[in-house]
Amino acid sequence: MWVCELNFDCYQDIELADAEPAIRQFIDALRYNGQILGREFPTSMHQGWLSARVVCPEKDSLHPRYHSRQVELAIEQLHRAGLTSPKVQFRGQDLNSDTTDHCDQRRWQLLYTTYLHSCSPLRCGDHFTPVPLYRIPPVANGDSKQILKWQEDWEACDQLQMNGSILEHGAVTELSEPDSRLSRRGRDLAKRIEYLTEVPTFYYLYRVGGDSLEAELNRTCPGCGEDWRLAEPVHEIFDFVCEPCRLVSNLSWDFKN
Ligand SMILES: [Zn+2]
Ligand SMILES: [Zn+2]
Repeated sequence: MWVCELNFDCYQDIELADAEPAIRQFIDALRYNGQILGREFPTSMHQGWLSARVVCPEKDSLHPRYHSRQVELAIEQLHRAGLTSPKVQFRGQDLNSDTTDHCDQRRWQLLYTTYLHSCSPLRCGDHFTPVPLYRIPPVANGDSKQILKWQEDWEACDQLQMNGSILEHGAVTELSEPDSRLSRRGRDLAKRIEYLTEVPTFYYLYRVGGDSLEAELNRTCPGCGEDWRLAEPVHEIFDFVCEPCRLVSNLSWDFKN
């Protein structure tokens, strides 16, 4: 991933109060289109220009050819607020982050995230690398906002269950039950993505707890009740896959070494 700076020149005297919402809207539109990643974008005001620091999945993520309709509208808003379209400046490659998937045609893909990840939750099944969301057709209303909102909720639940101090039980239920509200949303998104990309798209069900290793190894698919255990784990996480239900899961973390 790439660290970039977006610089906006003010071509007229502007009030910070006008510039700020226009920039925030623009940044949100980029985020909902997968062109920038993460939640925090330090923005500073200088003499006659403003600057925001962002992280992109690819070097050319901010190219106008990837802009969604919402991004284009947000650029018009910038102009109305007295700002130019942003100039992009590279700061360098982000050392801590995952690489981006380079497959032209994926054999399969899955929705997967954790509370530690800021990258795209759509991953290549073969390489487990994130797929930038602007590279798939928009799932609804011109961009990928619904996927980002699902990811935020998934990560919030994951954070709660990792911390284990409040709402842990409810959070684990949302992450692990195939019919929880969170899973239903995610599975609907996976279906929609599969339809749009024509690539089989799986949904990850988190698994923790259970009575014994024996019982966990013999756990059947919660969708159809069939055997779904793999001979070897995939990407060291997934021990179970059900093709018809489009579900993947792990051997309970309590029994996985
Ligand atoms: Zn790949
Ligand atoms: Zn199944």
